[in-house]
Amino acid sequence: MPTTQQIIEMTETYSAHNYKPLPIVIAHAEGAWVTDPEGKRYLDFLAAYSAMNHGHRHPRVIRAAMRQLERCTLTSRAFYNDEFGPFCKELAEFCGMEMVLAMNTGAEAVETAIKLARKWGYRVKNVPRGRAEIIVCANNFHGRTVTVISFSTEDLYKADFAPFTPGFTVVPYGDAAAFEKAITPDTVAWLVEPIQGEAGVVVPPDGYLSRCAEVCRKNKVLVMFDEIQTGFGRTGKRFCYEHEAGLKPDVLIVGKALGGGVLPISAVVASRELLGLFRPGEHGSTFGGNPLACAVARESLRVLVEEGLVERSARLGEKLLAELRAIRHPLIQEVRGKGLFVGLHLKKEAGGARAYCERLKEDGMLCKETHDDVIRFAPPLVIEERDLDLAISKVRKLFA
Ligand SMILES: *Cc1c(COP(=O)(O)O)cnc(C)c1O
Repeated sequence: MPTTQQIIEMTETYSAHNYKPLPIVIAHAEGAWVTDPEGKRYLDFLAAYSAMNHGHRHPRVIRAAMRQLERCTLTSRAFYNDEFGPFCKELAEFCGMEMVLAMNTGAEAVETAIKLARKWGYRVKNVPRGRAEIIVCANNFHGRTVTVISFSTEDLYKADFAPFTPGFTVVPYGDAAAFEKAITPDTVAWLVEPIQGEAGVVVPPDGYLSRCAEVCRKNKVLVMFDEIQTGFGRTGKRFCYEHEAGLKPDVLIVGKALGGGVLPISAVVASRELLGLFRPGEHGSTFGGNPLACAVARESLRVLVEEGLVERSARLGEKLLAELRAIRHPLIQEVRGKGLFVGLHLKKEAGGARAYCERLKEDGMLCKETHDDVIRFAPPLVIEERDLDLAISKVRKLFA
C-alpha cells in the first residue's frame, strides 16, 4: 500500500489545487473514526462538512446501497424507477412538506430553488419578466456555481470568475430591519442559512429568522432556507429553523447528509403550489432521483429517526458546547453553536485556526478551520459519548 507521503505527492501533482487539505490520508473509516495508511486512527470532527451525520459506513445505509446495487442503479428520469416515488413521499413527509425536486449536489439544489423562486415570481406574483430579485445575506455560502458565487461576498470565491448573474441583493446577516428595507415589489425570495456554516458557525440573534419570515409573508416573498449543512439533525433538531417556534419556510433546500455519507443527493422540498409550477422539460438532471441514491437516502432518513440521531445531537451537543465554553484561554473569543455544530472563534492574535487544526491532527483529531479564525467541531451524530469526551480532552490539552 502506498504511504501517506506518496499519496499526498501524487495528489498534489495531478489534482488541481482548489483545496488545502490537512496532511492526512484517510484509507479506512468507520463511525466517527478514520485510519491512515500507516494505521494511525483519528476522530473525525468535520464529518465531510456534515455530509457524514450517520458516520462513516453506517451498516444500515451500506446494506441499503448493496441491495440496490444488485437491483438497479440508474434509469434517468426518462422512465420511472421504483425508488424515486417512495423517496419523494418519505422526504416530503420527513420535512412536513408536499413535494420534492431531486438533484445531486447542494449547489444544484440551490440553483433549482433560485429557478423556482423566479418562476413563481413571474407566474404567481406577477413580477415583470427579467426583474425578479432574491435577497441573500452577507457571508453566505450556498455553493460554487457561477450563479451561486454571483451573490457571494467572499472575494476568494469570486475573483477571476466574472461576469456574474444579476438579480441578487445582499443584506447583513442577523439584521431584520435592514432586511425589511431591502424589499422591493420585485423581490421574490429570501435565501438564507439558519446558521451560517462556512462563515464560521454564525448563529443569528434569537427571533431573527421569524421576524424576517413575517416580513416576507406581508410582502409576498418566499422564505427559502438552505439547510444543506444544518439539516438532518446537525443542530439538534431535524432542521435548524425548528429552533424558532412556529417558523416554517416555503422552500427547504437539503443535501449533504441526505446521502447518508455514501452518495450525493440533494433536493428542493416545498408545497404543491410551488413545485407544481415546473412543467416537463423546464428543468432536469440525468442523475437526479437515481434509484441508488434514493434507496440510500430513504434508509438514511429511517436511520435518523429510528436511532434517535436528532435527539442525540441535541444531548451531546449541549455537553460539547458547555465543555468547550468552560475552557478559559485568552485567545478564545467565543464558542457558539447548536447541537453537534459548534464553532470556536479565536482572537486575531491567535494567528489563525489552521495551526490549531494541525496540532489537533497530530493528537488524533480531525478539524478544519473555517474563515481563518474559527475551528468547526461537527462530528458524526453517531459518535460514542466516550469518544466525544476524548475529543473534548484533546481540545482542553490544546489550550492548556
Ligand atoms: C455545502 C453547502 C452547499 C453546497 O453543497 P455542494 O454539495 O458542495 O454543492 C450549499 N449550501 C450550504 C449551506 C452548504 O453548506
